[in-house]
Amino acid sequence: MTKKIIIAIDGHSSCGKSTMAKQLAKEIGYVYVDTGAMYRAVTLYAMRNGMYPDEGIQEAELKAAVDEGKIQIGFKFNPETGRPDTYLNGEKVEDEIRQMAVSNRVSPIAALPFVRALLTQQQQAMGKEKGIVMDGRDIGTAVFPQAEMKVFVTASAKVRAQRRYDELMGKATTQEEKDALDFDEILKNVEERDYLDSHREVAPLRQAEDAIVLDNSNLTREEQSAWLLEKYKEIVK
Ligand code: C5P
Repeated sequence: MTKKIIIAIDGHSSCGKSTMAKQLAKEIGYVYVDTGAMYRAVTLYAMRNGMYPDEGIQEAELKAAVDEGKIQIGFKFNPETGRPDTYLNGEKVEDEIRQMAVSNRVSPIAALPFVRALLTQQQQAMGKEKGIVMDGRDIGTAVFPQAEMKVFVTASAKVRAQRRYDELMGKATTQEEKDALDFDEILKNVEERDYLDSHREVAPLRQAEDAIVLDNSNLTREEQSAWLLEKYKEIVK
């Protein structure tokens, strides 16, 4: 039997990391974990509980909620979509956490050291048995610096914004939802998150020295998946 490893896929916002990570996990029978969803779920919790008004995050209140174990995040596999859905305190929040209101607020939440400490610990526990594909910003640098396979994915900001736009458009069910989508707002969000994620103090987004870099601006999904599977095979050989 092939040995089980940890696969860390990091990179910029909306560069298709989760699509390729999920596909690889399926092909090789590994567990897939979307760590961005975990930061998004904490953000949603803060927003719903009045801890994230326009003036900024109520850090002390959020920290108390974290310390008291009031924020429970989990995943459940959804056979219909073929991917895990995110749950916050037992409620499925998969769609809500993908909305722009959450995207616009998540990076400052992800910069808080107590939030990172909580989620990093949970992610490390999920990878204890190996056989995991995890995507995020700091998986190869902070969560699993010992990961056997590390990939750093990027693409131009415009290409990434277009992908996010198409994804949200595909999910929109009413004309009103479609009309509300604004490419420039999405591009601005992608650029702002790149900046905030790369410049925060704790576990900033950066390429691990031993990561393989993939710029997928000009690759199709199939090409990326084939590339990733090939790299995996080389590593476990
Ligand atoms: O991957 P996704 O775009 O859903 O991630 C949302 C946000 O969560 C990122 O912009 C980043 O601020 C944060 N994040 C992080 N560390 C991770 C995964 C996501 O800081 N490992």
